Amino acid sequence: MTDGGDCLVLMPTGGGKSLCYQLPSLLRDGCGIVVSPLIALMRDQVEGLLDTGVKAAVLNSSLSWEEASAIEQRLLAGDLDLLYIAPERLLTPRCLELLSRARLALFAIDEAHCVSQWGHDFRPEYIKLSILAERFPTVPRIALTATADELTRSEIVSRLKLDGAPRFVASFDRPNIRYEIIEKQNAKSQLQTFIAERHAGEAGIVYCLSRAKVDETAASLASAGIPALAYHAGLNAAVRARHQDRFINEDGVVIVATIAFGMGIDKPDVRFVAHLDLPKSIEAYYQETGRAGRDGKPADAWMTYGLADIVQQRRMIDQSTGKDAYKRVSAGKLDALVGLCETAGCRRLRVLEYFGEAPGQPNCGNCDNCLSPPRVWDGTIVAQKALSCVYRTGQRFGAGHLIDVLIGNSTDRVAQLSHDQLSVFGVGAELNEKQWRTVIRQLVGLGHLQPDSEAFGALKLTESARSVLKGERKVMLREQAAASATRKRTTKGKTSKRDSTSAPASPAVAGGYKKLSDSNLLSALRSWRTSIAKQRKVPAYVILHDATLEGIASSRPTTHDQLRTVAGIGDKKLERYGDVLLSLVRSAAS
Ligand code: ZN
Repeated sequence: MTDGGDCLVLMPTGGGKSLCYQLPSLLRDGCGIVVSPLIALMRDQVEGLLDTGVKAAVLNSSLSWEEASAIEQRLLAGDLDLLYIAPERLLTPRCLELLSRARLALFAIDEAHCVSQWGHDFRPEYIKLSILAERFPTVPRIALTATADELTRSEIVSRLKLDGAPRFVASFDRPNIRYEIIEKQNAKSQLQTFIAERHAGEAGIVYCLSRAKVDETAASLASAGIPALAYHAGLNAAVRARHQDRFINEDGVVIVATIAFGMGIDKPDVRFVAHLDLPKSIEAYYQETGRAGRDGKPADAWMTYGLADIVQQRRMIDQSTGKDAYKRVSAGKLDALVGLCETAGCRRLRVLEYFGEAPGQPNCGNCDNCLSPPRVWDGTIVAQKALSCVYRTGQRFGAGHLIDVLIGNSTDRVAQLSHDQLSVFGVGAELNEKQWRTVIRQLVGLGHLQPDSEAFGALKLTESARSVLKGERKVMLREQAAASATRKRTTKGKTSKRDSTSAPASPAVAGGYKKLSDSNLLSALRSWRTSIAKQRKVPAYVILHDATLEGIASSRPTTHDQLRTVAGIGDKKLERYGDVLLSLVRSAAS
């Protein structure tokens, strides 16, 4: 990459993606131009670079004319290593002309998946970036993204004219993130319990689909004593900026947000990402959960989901104004995500396979299914009952009514429709309502039932349902972890069977969930960092990372040379903070 060819780099966040353009920019002659959406959020990254001695700057619309022209002069004078520019600014004739007069090391197109019309981050101005290949044929272009399936990858290549460019694909595995997907019961109280029991006092992101739900959820967390702030496009810009700043700069703030939040956020110590609603695809899920644990320490990706989520997402696809091809691709992506939710196997494996990786091990040891393998049972007979109930009632009803018929509830609606006269009425009395809900959801997840695009909430049979009804296909269902403790099985053929594969403990995370004991030195270091960060108006991690503070606290260096061996302490940091850090170590020892 340093000797100047085009390339496509696919690398998970936290995988050193930004190094891929920072390094060649520094080694090659001239300035590296970084094209990134949401340029305003790059401020922290630039602050961090300045702190390590890299000459970096941002050109965006928040600068005054004088400030912008000072940066332009520095670019022309060869006094910049890296310049961040938003795509819409870059594409102006004036900016292109400016760049043509400067010596350029490379173009780095960050978040390159924004070029994909199928993707959830599509930005029309990204498509126009193909002009870079025409105007600057000799300047290497590097496209970077943290998430892209095969379809998106080839779209990036063709849109950005990277044909023939080598691809560098790093593993998408984020071993420190623990994946967990549970059945939705009372989402708000499930979330509260999750935070209270596992992440009290820690920073996290909660994703919801709608603005109303964001507001509601933030309020309910706040009333439970959890410092939670809302973030969505409906809030005014000042409130959004304030909430984002508090999330980044303060300790232990939970942000509740729509997917409008997150891109460009590089806070390393986000300890959990929770989804209260189903994302649109595995890419979206991976990208959103990838905001947890960028510091490499244990973090949780937690999601609660239910049948209503699948129906809702399906409906959004069906009602979208997109072309049929778009709807088909979207539906396929949703199906893959639902498959991830319903699998009884390793979640990480599913995600990695989706991105085209073939991990060597069958178990990761750090997802819910590996840590406590779900019970799997032969649900063929139960499935047949549910599917014939759908058939007999005319494929026009949702889960609620179907369950009433299966259990034999003589509701008004059942009587009105004479569904109590059907052979399937009461045929499924061995399961209760909640259990049936789980079964029906899984039948949707397994593709035997599908939400009707015409009638909201109605479920209809698919092609594969036929073979289940004919007895040609076995249906294995998973028991829900939460429900399994209280569930009693009486009917033959539904006896539980424990999956025999046992999960090995993950070496990367074993014991990692124990909180570090807060030594005096560590808390002294932290409070020093907080005050410096306030003074310099930057996030605390720009000063020094948590891991660096912990490294100092455990090794207790007494000289500059010893301090220099702690990870995260470079010459610049040593020069700037060396003396004060050593004096903190000394005073903690005395
Ligand atoms: Zn696993």
